[in-house]
Parts: sequence; structure tokens; C-alpha cells
Amino acid sequence: MKEEVKGIPVRVALRCRPLVPKEISEGCQMCLSFVPGEPQVVVGTDKSFTYDFVFDPSTEQEEVFNTAVAPLIKGVFKGYNATVLAYGQTGSGKTYSMGGAYTAEQENEPTVGVIPRVIQLLFKEIDKKSDFEFTLKVSYLEIVGLTEKTVLVALDTVSCLEQGNNCRTVASTAMNSQSSRSHAIFTISIEQRKKSDKNSSFRSKLHLVDLAGSERQKKTKAEGDRLKEGININRGLLCLGNVISALGDDKKGGFVPYRDSKLTRLLQDSLGGNSHTLMIACVSPADSNLEETLNTLRYADRAR
Ligand code: ADP
Ligand code: MG
Repeated sequence: MKEEVKGIPVRVALRCRPLVPKEISEGCQMCLSFVPGEPQVVVGTDKSFTYDFVFDPSTEQEEVFNTAVAPLIKGVFKGYNATVLAYGQTGSGKTYSMGGAYTAEQENEPTVGVIPRVIQLLFKEIDKKSDFEFTLKVSYLEIVGLTEKTVLVALDTVSCLEQGNNCRTVASTAMNSQSSRSHAIFTISIEQRKKSDKNSSFRSKLHLVDLAGSERQKKTKAEGDRLKEGININRGLLCLGNVISALGDDKKGGFVPYRDSKLTRLLQDSLGGNSHTLMIACVSPADSNLEETLNTLRYADRAR
């Protein structure tokens, strides 16, 4: 029973972006350093954290994808569910990493992120499996404290290339509307059947999530509905942390508090159990962000 709940451990990738022009012009210094060949980040001179993967500022999108994300996509074709979550303060590189901000023209550029690469790999794998038939459903959900909206597109994979473009269009229009206070959840459900045995069908689900900014709400600036939004979102991130921590923790007797937030209820079937989860914890290297960076490093540390 415990084994079942524990499932496959959550993996954590720390990704540190380069200093952005604004940080450079403000004279910010790097407060993080990296140990070559080790999945380790050093804060200042003494404190260090180790994760499953650590991607330093020079790491390209392709390497992040091939190392940490592609193995999850392979699992999807074996019936595993998968979730990729981007966590971090606003401006830390979540949307850049997830690839929600791209346009169709950028499709083959090295800067495209996780989502377009996932779609490309999915359709490449589908093309290879000519003895199978696939049905894909793509949905997009944005959870802002007070409102939510869903887009659902169903695809029968007859002509793969055209369908792939459809997927990418939904992904880009949807993700572009994302605000730093909402969780953007892009979901691909895949059903596969052997052409020789239509009863052989099985489904798997893939969630690609650009989480709300993890920075603490500045109470003086957020009032009324805005403040409520902030509180709800922090609750989602808090619950997510508790769920992920419980998944990796034997002592809790197998209880995982999925029901404590909308975000974790939604992701329930793809966190723990028969699923693979990757959290990409995004940080800025600038000393001006040190406090939020430490919060992210600790949150990600607790997830392992
Ligand atoms: P978030 O979604 O966490 O608020 P963004 O993804 O919008 O943050 O990133 C903030 C800024 O940093 C953007 O201008 C983005 O292009 C840039 N950026 C983020 N990650 C990288 C990276 N790995 N390499 C280069 N630029 C990056
Ligand atoms: Mg963003």
C-alpha cells in the first residue's frame, strides 16, 4: 500500500537563468555558483544544495529537455502519467523554460521550451508506431484564485503534422494569456489502441504546468480581490509542496493531502501513484533576489 502511494519519486531539476539586462544595468552580482559535473548549487560561499539535476545559466533548452523531460515522454507511451511543473518567483524563467511564450515562427529555434518540444516528440513517437492508433485531447486550464477557464481540443491522429500544428497553436494562444498570479495547466491526454486489437486501448495523461509566481504577496499592494487571489494561489503552492513531500516520505503512513487545494486535486491522477513528476525549480542568480531564491531552493529541497 505504501509502495503504491510512494510510486516513482518526484525528480527535481534546479534551473538558474543568466542575469537579465536589467539586473546587469542595476549592478547585480551573481550569488550562486555551480560545481562542474555535480548536480549542486552553492549559495554565497558556504551553503550548498543538491538536486537530481542542476542546470547552470549556460544550459540550453535542448539539454534541459533531453536530460530531464524526454524520459517522461517515453514513459507516457508505456502508460505512465507524467507531470512537469515549473516553480519559482516571477521573472525566474518559468515561462521561458516551459515554452509558453513562443510563436509558430520560432518553432525550430534553439530557444523554444518544453511544451513545443514535448508536442514535437509526441508526434515523432506516434509516427513511429504505425501499428497503433491514437486519440489525443488537449486542454488548457488557468486557475486564477477567483476564475478559471478551460479550452478543450480533441484530435484523432490521422494526419500527424497538421494535428501537431493544431496542438502548438492551442498551446501558444493559451499560454500567452498567463499572468504571474495564475497556474497555467496544459494537459495532453493520449489514448492508444493496437490496430489489430481495438480492445487493447489504454490512456495516459501529461500535465505541463507553469505555476504562479512563488514570491510572497506584498500585502500593501494587493487589496480586495487581488489579495484573495494571492492567498488562494499561495495555498495551491503550499499544498503542492505538502503533496510532493508526502509522496517521498514513508513516515506519513501513505496519506497524501491532495484534496487541500484546487491545484493538487486537478493534478491528483498525475502526481504519485503510476506517474512520473518533474519539478523545474527556476531561480535568478542575482544577489538582489537572494531571499526568494533561498525560498525556492528550500521548497525544491523539500520536494526531493
Ligand atoms: P517567469 O515566467 O518565471 O515570470 P520568464 O520566463 O518570463 O519568467 O523569464 C523572465 C525573463 O528572463 C524573460 O525575459 C526571459 O526571456 C528571461 N530568461 C529566463 N530564463 C532564461 C534563460 N534560461 N536564458 C535566457 N533568458 C532567460
Ligand atoms: Mg511567466
